[in-house]
Amino acid sequence: MRIGIIGAGQLGRMLALAGYPLGLRFTFLDPNPDACGAQVGECIVGAYDDPAKLRELADNVDVLSFEFENVPVETLTAITRRRPMYPPVAALAASQDRLTEKTLFRKLGIPTPDFHAVDSLEDLQAAVAELGAPGILKTRRLGYDGRGQYRIRTVSDVIPAWHQLGGVPLIYEAFVPFTREVSIIGARSSKGETAIYPLTENTHQNGVLHLSKAPYKNAKLQTQAEKYLKKLFRHFDYAGVLTIEFFVLRGQLIANEMAPRVHNSGHWTIEGAETSQFENHVRAICGLPLGSTAVRGHAAMLNFVGQIPEQAAALKQPGLHLHHYGKEARPGRKLGHATIVADTIQTRDRSVKKMLTLLPKARSR
Ligand code: AMP
Repeated sequence: MRIGIIGAGQLGRMLALAGYPLGLRFTFLDPNPDACGAQVGECIVGAYDDPAKLRELADNVDVLSFEFENVPVETLTAITRRRPMYPPVAALAASQDRLTEKTLFRKLGIPTPDFHAVDSLEDLQAAVAELGAPGILKTRRLGYDGRGQYRIRTVSDVIPAWHQLGGVPLIYEAFVPFTREVSIIGARSSKGETAIYPLTENTHQNGVLHLSKAPYKNAKLQTQAEKYLKKLFRHFDYAGVLTIEFFVLRGQLIANEMAPRVHNSGHWTIEGAETSQFENHVRAICGLPLGSTAVRGHAAMLNFVGQIPEQAAALKQPGLHLHHYGKEARPGRKLGHATIVADTIQTRDRSVKKMLTLLPKARSR
């Protein structure tokens, strides 16, 4: 079987690396011929929304998927007539717009922060009057890793926030004073089988994922998170891996967003789980049985953003697994990650401390 993936970034690269042992082959579509997925699979060079290139991709593969979320859904819908596309385009469409996404969450009984659509300065003033400050003004579309956001601390921030983000559809969200952030990742196969990983605890720096630790053991929250994930699986008749990111507030989950794809907070599953999220995604979209999501002890994943540690120094740390995405270093760019897996939480957390010393000083605090 050959899988066609729209986007050839690190997620596509890791999907291919997980699929090869199963005898699967991969073709990517990406505008950048040097994209890091192109180092490990065939790559059709073209824009994500070029109908001719998408047709070429579809005609050369058995099943389609995407690793990049900002693909126009209209162009994708057109090629689903040629080949099956998983996850479903409807899930991608919902995740592309924070307002549609949060409205769907509410409809399905998944708690979210209070929110208000904002299309004008008057809307923003009304939203802040209704929901109060602090809050976060976000672009509804094309925002990721904390981009396209303005934190409104007091009413006096309303005008500057509007000047910075106004002009595109926005959403104002009440600030959630969370105690921690967690994510749930699970797969549903095209045959309807599901497999869900234990919760992962995530720490961000400047809106970008910094460190993930799993399992985050909390039976009540695990049950809640699985219930919410399954509601989305059913709603979309889903196939593939799906992620929901949550805030934890007073022992309850509040959904921030979903990602209809493998997720950065699940990279620890490569060494830390019986079956990685990447392998389960390809199994799911090919209609194969899913693999066990059991954890091999206690895992942690550290992201390398903008700079990657010197390879020899990193590899000297016992038990550390280095993943270098083969990308050129640029500020803010995700270049790689490291995972450690240990038998106990204490050993894992000691190794995390050591792993943090690999990072440049400013980020290791
Ligand atoms: P996002 O791009 O929505 O994933 O936001 C990036 C990060 O900003 C989240 O992981 C949180 O740390 C923070 N954040 C976003 N929305 C809120 C909110 N409503 N309340 C508190 N923190 C938030």
